[in-house]
Amino acid sequence: MIDITLLGTGATMPLPDRALTAVHLAFGGRSILFDCGEGTQSAARKAHVSLMKTDLIALTHYHGDHLFGLPGLLQTFGCLGRTSPLFLTGPDGLEEAMAPVLQLCGQLPFDLHFLHLNEQGAQLSDIFPHFPEESFLFPIPTCHRVISQGYRFSLQRPGKFDFTAAEKLRVPKPFWSLLQHGKTVTLEDGRTILPSQVLGPERKGLSIVFSGDTSPCAALSEAAEEADLFICEATYGEDSYADQAEKYGHCTFSQAARLAADAHAKRLWLAHFSQIMEHPEDFLPNAQTIFPDAVCGSDGLHITLRFEEA
Ligand SMILES: [Zn+2]
Ligand SMILES: [Zn+2]
Repeated sequence: MIDITLLGTGATMPLPDRALTAVHLAFGGRSILFDCGEGTQSAARKAHVSLMKTDLIALTHYHGDHLFGLPGLLQTFGCLGRTSPLFLTGPDGLEEAMAPVLQLCGQLPFDLHFLHLNEQGAQLSDIFPHFPEESFLFPIPTCHRVISQGYRFSLQRPGKFDFTAAEKLRVPKPFWSLLQHGKTVTLEDGRTILPSQVLGPERKGLSIVFSGDTSPCAALSEAAEEADLFICEATYGEDSYADQAEKYGHCTFSQAARLAADAHAKRLWLAHFSQIMEHPEDFLPNAQTIFPDAVCGSDGLHITLRFEEA
């Protein structure tokens, strides 16, 4: 199960009901924040989302509308006495981009770690011991005016545990949970047991893709393949803004919808709206003619995704 909340859906400058970009993910008692635009803290309060236990903040790029909420949030963590470490990840240049942010914050009572993801992504339990074994995060190279990356987060799901097979192989019960979570185990008698020996076929997991700022690009469409939720930037509502979108490295509503349709995504949330659109939902038909279930994102929009199979 994953809880996803859109905290900010604006581009460039905050509006009274539209904070700048931020998306919160909660799963298995852990949480990730994608981007941290101005207004993220207030938006989280309004949406009843606690950011205090955020384990990882994953930045898509270093434009102010995606990170100016960060110094304030780090200071709040400090004021509230956070001591658990916080990880930050982002595209190349993370340390340089964070240097002035950290200078503003001064001394913080918790450790900050910079995490560099390679294109193979990461099994998060390798970095965070308390994360579910099945949680993975992959960066997606995107096409913006500066170096940028989106993210695919997935919660994979191993096959059902085959008790009969485990008993036949004389695997002691204390090892069952490890095998169920995909770990190979070595028994006291020296035998090695692979998860595949005691698990049924892999079941369908859950995946979420967040674009960050980008023009339409093949890597994003590929990464969003069959995503349960695709949160895509859609800066401009009208197709007539396509040239402007290309010039500034953004998408129109119809381009975001085309990406989602090509990827056979299950759900599409549009976000990162230009302030020139007072009511982004007026332009939703431009997306829905291509992806009928497209949803216009709004601050506080929330969904709980659950595994389809029992
Ligand atoms: Zn932006
Ligand atoms: Zn940008």
